[in-house]
Amino acid sequence: VKEHGRNSVRQFIPEMGATAISRMNMEGAMRRGLERGEFALHYQPKIDLLTQRIVGAEALVRWNHPQIGLIHPIEFIPLAEESGLILPLGEWVLTEACRQQVAWLEAGLGALEMSVNVSARQFRQEDLAERVAQVVAATGIAPACLALELTESMVMQDVNSTLLALRTLKQLGLSISLDDFGTGYSSLSYLRRFPIDELKIDKSFINDVHVNEDDAAIAGAIIAMALSLGLRVVAEGVESQAQVDRLLAMGCTQVQGYLFGRPMDAASFVAKFQAGVRV
Ligand code: C2E
Ligand code: CA
Ligand code: CA
Ligand code: CA
Repeated sequence: VKEHGRNSVRQFIPEMGATAISRMNMEGAMRRGLERGEFALHYQPKIDLLTQRIVGAEALVRWNHPQIGLIHPIEFIPLAEESGLILPLGEWVLTEACRQQVAWLEAGLGALEMSVNVSARQFRQEDLAERVAQVVAATGIAPACLALELTESMVMQDVNSTLLALRTLKQLGLSISLDDFGTGYSSLSYLRRFPIDELKIDKSFINDVHVNEDDAAIAGAIIAMALSLGLRVVAEGVESQAQVDRLLAMGCTQVQGYLFGRPMDAASFVAKFQAGVRV
């Protein structure tokens, strides 16, 4: 029986496959990485096209693995979400982003709005608002300078609890942004009922907005709807002046994208945008 047990263990391992093993390694490595300070935030500027000035920054997490190097979030956020590590990681991200916003304010970069991505699992935490309030108090960020980015699919999942969660968060004085807008399926009536401040048009509609009339029609409809509901609207993934021209013609005045700045580390961000430098 013993021998059989050993054999079955031996046979079981290859069947688990490399993915299962590397996934266990990765979870442990992420946990240790969080303790050892291997995660970092990069910041991408948000630009107002009318003033040509930076109005905010989006914090985007990176993992600086000692052997592998810089790992992008698409590689580890899904596993972090699945394993629950996203909760301590997300809390670290929020704290670090708020701390940075205050440091930049003190360094003379102006009252930039700091946008922080919130995962589905974080959003479903019962005590999310209390946790955010604690971070706001601990870092001293003005709540008006903090925006939480939620995805459309997250908020549409359970609209009643979403409404409650959003109202509680809004009482703190921060902004709520709907990320990747257009890729989920929002009920427009909820869009009106939810206390939302901003829509971010997904990059997939922006890529060809200057050449594809269908994409331009969708982007144009989102912009018109946002403006008529009194929401801010931001185009993400803007890479060319042709896209800018088309977006401006449709009334969209805020953009993020490689044309104005890639996500960069905090030191590069300060060097580039100190003293409210025009882009
Ligand atoms: P997202 O929130 O939609 O962020 C925008 C992504 O588009 C970023 O990728 C950014 O680097 C990229 N991007 C911005 N402008 C351009 C452009 O002009 N062209 C192109 N090709 N790409 C552009 P990144 O940093 O790799 O992040 C990917 C996703 O990972 C984010 O998508 C977000 O969903 C998630 N993520 C990043 N940081 C965090 C975080 O701290 N917490 C959570 N929960 N998710 C995060
Ligand atoms: Ca985002
Ligand atoms: Ca997005
Ligand atoms: Ca996206």
